[in-house]
Amino acid sequence: MKLRVVVLGAGFGGLELTTILSDSIGESLDLTLIDKNETFFFGYSKFDVMFGRKTPDAVRLAYRNIVKQGVSFHSETITAIDPEARRVTTNERTYEADVLVVALGADYDQAATPGLVEGGNEFYSFAGAERLRDVLPAFSSGHAIVGVTSTPFKCPPAPSEAVLLLHDYLTSRGVRQDCEISLVMPFGIPIPPSPKSSVALLAAFAERGITFIPHRLVRALDTSRRVAILDDASEMPYDLFLGVPKHRVPDVVAASGMTDDGWIPVDSRTLETFYPGVYAIGDVTSVGTPKAGVFSEGAARTVAAAVIAQVRGGQQPPAYSGAGSCYVEFGQNLVGRVDVDFLSGPSPTGSFVKPSAALVSEKDEFGSSRQSRWFGL
Ligand SMILES: Cc1cc2nc3c(=O)[nH]c(=O)nc-3n(C[C@H](O)[C@H](O)[C@H](O)COP(=O)(O)OP(=O)(O)OC[C@H]3O[C@@H](n4cnc5c(N)ncnc54)[C@H](O)[C@@H]3O)c2cc1C
Repeated sequence: MKLRVVVLGAGFGGLELTTILSDSIGESLDLTLIDKNETFFFGYSKFDVMFGRKTPDAVRLAYRNIVKQGVSFHSETITAIDPEARRVTTNERTYEADVLVVALGADYDQAATPGLVEGGNEFYSFAGAERLRDVLPAFSSGHAIVGVTSTPFKCPPAPSEAVLLLHDYLTSRGVRQDCEISLVMPFGIPIPPSPKSSVALLAAFAERGITFIPHRLVRALDTSRRVAILDDASEMPYDLFLGVPKHRVPDVVAASGMTDDGWIPVDSRTLETFYPGVYAIGDVTSVGTPKAGVFSEGAARTVAAAVIAQVRGGQQPPAYSGAGSCYVEFGQNLVGRVDVDFLSGPSPTGSFVKPSAALVSEKDEFGSSRQSRWFGL
């Protein structure tokens, strides 16, 4: 009998897990990978799309290209998860699993921020980034605010990257001097676990005349007066608002009863949930790392090692370290890197590799290596 593994969600975590399991134990595997979409895209591709650097089609990777031993991909919407029975229902059928892995990521609740849907924009969903391709060219003067509306949110460096890339975009159009750019962030510094990268980002903001507003969230937009209302009731007039919407688990996860305080709790060493044979990885969990693809991948590696040990026998793998490297766009064709470790020690540690052209190539290699391993492209 082959081991029936059902992986819910073909994002960073689901793709990495599927790839490792197929490469290592493909002959003993009956793995079903399910995603409601037919294509994958890297989170950072949204910048390429919104600033018009690439077309939406150029950044989409089709799941139909996944050809892996022991794996079948199904483009279906998951409608129910029964973690006790390890049974999953989709719009087409029902799956039974020996090992069930929930890797369904985080969804957005745009309506949670009054005015955001009617009077603002968000750049965190693919659809939002696509819409901005038409909105940004029409912005040539006034105040642009990039604002975080709630915590936790994916890829904590992304709002800082957005303001630096917006600066470049407006400069290249010759309108930067007619525009003001502000960044509203809930943290005291841009990337709290890495003070050095934060110093570099704050210096980059200062050089470019970008205003950093720390310790604040945007609670609402008053669209008639065009002001953003912050969590201390202060107001900021805006002409262009680019928001980071409130994050939440997908509805099907909330309905499964697996969440506590909004996210799926897991054993941070093993990624096991409270339910035997059921793991959860990545943004859908409250494991204690930021919500970013590199951490979803790391968690996937830990679960893969546990499943391989289950099939082959042998020792359980070392505990999940919560370590990962994030590339940070500084604009002006430069990329920096933050290396962070969240779970190995008593408190998170981070180091910083300063922006360079070499790191632009390294980030390209990060993307192309995953494209090749996950999709064979
Ligand atoms: C602007 C931006 C920039 C970013 N830059 C980076 C970066 O540089 N580096 C980095 O590491 N991370 C980055 N991220 C974050 C990264 O994209 C996410 O953290 C990562 O994708 C999370 O991986 P995951 O596997 O947990 O979930 P996801 O990749 O979100 O995958 C979840 C999958 O589940 C599927 N799904 C959800 N519900 C259902 C359902 N009911 N039925 C079927 N399928 C379903 C979804 O379609 C999705 O494919 C960025 C994010 C943004 C928004």
